Amino acid sequence: RRLILIGPPGSGKGTQSPIIKDEYCLCHLATGDMLRAAVAAKTPLGVKAKEAMDKGELVSDDLVVGIIDEAMKKPSCQKGFILDGFPRTVVQAQKLDEMLGKQGAKIDKVLNFAIDDAILEERITGRWIHPSSGRTYHTKFSPPKVPGVDDVTGEPLIQRKDDTAAVLKSRLEAFHKQTEPVIDYYKNKGVVADLHAEKPPKEVTSEVQKVLS
Ligand code: ADP
Ligand code: ADP
Ligand code: ADP
Repeated sequence: RRLILIGPPGSGKGTQSPIIKDEYCLCHLATGDMLRAAVAAKTPLGVKAKEAMDKGELVSDDLVVGIIDEAMKKPSCQKGFILDGFPRTVVQAQKLDEMLGKQGAKIDKVLNFAIDDAILEERITGRWIHPSSGRTYHTKFSPPKVPGVDDVTGEPLIQRKDDTAAVLKSRLEAFHKQTEPVIDYYKNKGVVADLHAEKPPKEVTSEVQKVLS
């Protein structure tokens, strides 16, 4: 299976990804995670991406398309993949189609995490992450057993630098202007499934399972 998860920041893509990934043995490719790792390691790619990320703007299409092109070649991705946070512009979607087309492949399903903007600030400002595993917590909705500490490893949790109310505003603006057209692009191909992403995590998981069954 070749799946795309699309939704605004905080809509629950990163929370549902590990569940879908394990259930269907797919690889999980999250461009945001890859870019943050590059920023932290201060690689040339990270240096180029950092300014836009800090402001809540999108990184250039060429940079992210390059990352995805490379990542999809991994052996673990040959059975299928979940793209989380990519494509975020129509240009990225067209490039992705080109890449897949070369292998005679195409996207099977686009899961649209539909949700009202008003809910997202509370989700984003309460988010805590275990960087090395990508495990995500929320101070109110899914708190770790010990505040600030990962349940599994006991390692410290972090908050993302861009998870503030102010940067969220720019990220939402980018989502509506640049990413919503991607949903229409795939609607025209008849592969979009709309989810009720405002529901509790378990109910969203059931909706995903129904769509993929
Ligand atoms: P995204 O990857 O789409 O940006 P996340 O999956 O990281 O979003 O979720 C954002 C925050 O909201 C996290 O702190 C997460 O624990 C919490 N969260 C995720 N899904 C739900 C949900 N269905 N209901 C309530 N909180 C949720
Ligand atoms: P979110 O929690 O908002 O869904 P991500 O972790 O997916 O956030 O992305 C964080 C930041 O990384 C974005 O605000 C953007 O600057 C950059 N980014 C991630 N994926 C892409 C992409 N496909 N195209 C352009 N920029 C991206
Ligand atoms: P700066 O020096 O500008 O604070 P960092 O190198 O600390 O930049 O990293 C940028 C941001 O990304 C920080 O908020 C950091 O905590 C966060 N971060 C780094 N790696 C990850 C990851 N794998 N998942 C989520 N956030 C991460």
